[in-house]
Amino acid sequence: AVVATCAYFFYRFTQERSKVKALRPREYPKNMAAPTADINDFDELEAMHSIPAKRFIALEKLGYGAFGEVFKGALFNSDNTAALCAIKNLKEEHRETLAEKFLAEAELMKTLRHPNVVHMIGVSGVDEEERTEICILMEYLPNGDLKHYISNPANQVAITNAERLWYAWQLAMGCEYIAAKNLVHRDLAARNCLLGNLGPDGYHFCKISDFGLARVTEGEDQEYIMEGGGLLPVRWMAVESITERQFSEASDVWAYAVMIWEVFSNGKVPYCDTQSYNLAASIADGLRLEKPETCNREVYRLLASCWQRNPEDRPSFSTLVTEFAALYCSGRGDLESPSGELLALAAKKNHIF
Ligand code: ADP
Repeated sequence: AVVATCAYFFYRFTQERSKVKALRPREYPKNMAAPTADINDFDELEAMHSIPAKRFIALEKLGYGAFGEVFKGALFNSDNTAALCAIKNLKEEHRETLAEKFLAEAELMKTLRHPNVVHMIGVSGVDEEERTEICILMEYLPNGDLKHYISNPANQVAITNAERLWYAWQLAMGCEYIAAKNLVHRDLAARNCLLGNLGPDGYHFCKISDFGLARVTEGEDQEYIMEGGGLLPVRWMAVESITERQFSEASDVWAYAVMIWEVFSNGKVPYCDTQSYNLAASIADGLRLEKPETCNREVYRLLASCWQRNPEDRPSFSTLVTEFAALYCSGRGDLESPSGELLALAAKKNHIF
């Protein structure tokens, strides 16, 4: 019996040891300075192949992502400063099958540094001997996603045309940068944009998140439909992406215009009167989104030009940046070299947007 008991406990001990330690929210340590540092200064952590688990903690759960949970957390630098961060973990049950995809998202995000693109700090748990969950650590954006923000009736009263144009301009700049890196996002939508602090005119800085994610969630997410083994955001997809699975800057331009249509429609679901299974055929037949009430003709014409059937006829992101900067700034009253002046102002106020 003694041998059996010992064997049992030894077995339990080895099982426990081989288990990967899960990330759980905890109290912020009282002996540490408040996490007020700027995460963009944490170069030391960024340079690491795998950030050690002792360098960060989870503070509260923000929600669920495609691969696991998303937490608000704190990241500690070696000089005892701390910064807030967002942590996406990879659920243990997905470790075998999805680690590669999850880390591919991380690899991609790590190469991007732009004020309108969510900044990734690094990954953790990649070194097997640590036996901790695989996580992506990125900058924390305190004001949720754009879809929630514009759908909230409390905000809608106060949102002006100028604010909507501000988001259009900001997001065009983020997309222009992504396209210049020869990347195709494939999943531009208001739900994938996060809001940061307030900018020079009192509107949130806005950043693109969720890179090139081949969707792996199944079921309840109505915004993606099942197609050839993956879930696709059809309501945001260009006609050639739907019919021929072709993705390019031009198909991102299409999705960008759907996303800006969401901004002008207070977060309405695009083509909400059409069922998902009819949508592909209807869009191929020429169905397009209508002009939202809050959108003037000039803006709508620009959006509609992004939904032209021939990808080559659509404007580039660089053109959209110029157009929306001019529209935003003409509403603001300054017509000369708008983007340069505003960007300088923005950079001064907030270091990196
Ligand atoms: P996934 O793309 O993996 O499905 P999401 O990016 O949608 O996951 O994240 C799920 C939730 O976590 C969303 O509600 C989002 O607002 C929040 N979130 C994600 N990243 C951040 C971040 N960097 N800062 C603050 N909140 C975030």
